[in-house]
Amino acid sequence: MLRELYRALLDVLFPSFCGVCGSFLFLEHRAVACKECWEREFKRYEGKKCRVCGHPLELLPGSKELCLRCLKEKRKFAFDGVFYYTLYEGLPEVAIRELKFEKYRLVAYEIGREIASNLKGVISRVGANLVVPVPLHRSTLKERGFNQSEEILKGARVPFSPLLEKPFKGEKQSTADFLKRRENVKGLFRVRNAAELIGKTVLLFDDVFTTGATADEISRLLKKSGAEKVFVYTVAYTPLKLLTKEKAGNLVGFGKG
Ligand SMILES: [Zn+2]
Ligand SMILES: [Zn+2]
Repeated sequence: MLRELYRALLDVLFPSFCGVCGSFLFLEHRAVACKECWEREFKRYEGKKCRVCGHPLELLPGSKELCLRCLKEKRKFAFDGVFYYTLYEGLPEVAIRELKFEKYRLVAYEIGREIASNLKGVISRVGANLVVPVPLHRSTLKERGFNQSEEILKGARVPFSPLLEKPFKGEKQSTADFLKRRENVKGLFRVRNAAELIGKTVLLFDDVFTTGATADEISRLLKKSGAEKVFVYTVAYTPLKLLTKEKAGNLVGFGKG
């Protein structure tokens, strides 16, 4: 009751508006959007996905469950599969930006609630023993005050194991080029307790999938440290057509932070 009053007071003192329809947000709303807009716009991607990189096939058609790039370049990654809830555009993009760059922490819990049942379904489908969030470098953590991936998992009420650390910061990812990004992220991460990984199936969790360079690097590290299988789950996936230079450089989870 007190919390509701407090929230109502905050709404009056600091009015905010729905990121989609612009209506005044009062009481019943989901962080950055009104309830109706959130439910309409934060939608699950339910189409077909490339079985190697997870790219939505309707946006990059190929054949035999492979996208054009994986087909042509015979791409291989260290992870065994990619899952995600939605595409990185519209409201999900606004919400994740607010969370990370405006440090609006409550957004994490709304996202967590949104993806919870899908995420739990994936965990049981792949038989994951551990959910491991992508870590932030301590300077990013200090600046932001929290690791958005961990906060989202808390919102989803999914237990996780922070088995990774990121002792090195790396260069800013200002290119969408997978090979360059892979070069940039090489050696940035470390496993804290390899003994816990032996023989395990890991679900690596992050907010956004961009080129897959970071996910690939971490998956390789996890396997080298004893993990049997590594699957990737992100809230949002950035399709190639949306992967502008700005997004690649400034926003996106896998790569930044
Ligand atoms: Zn709205
Ligand atoms: Zn692919």
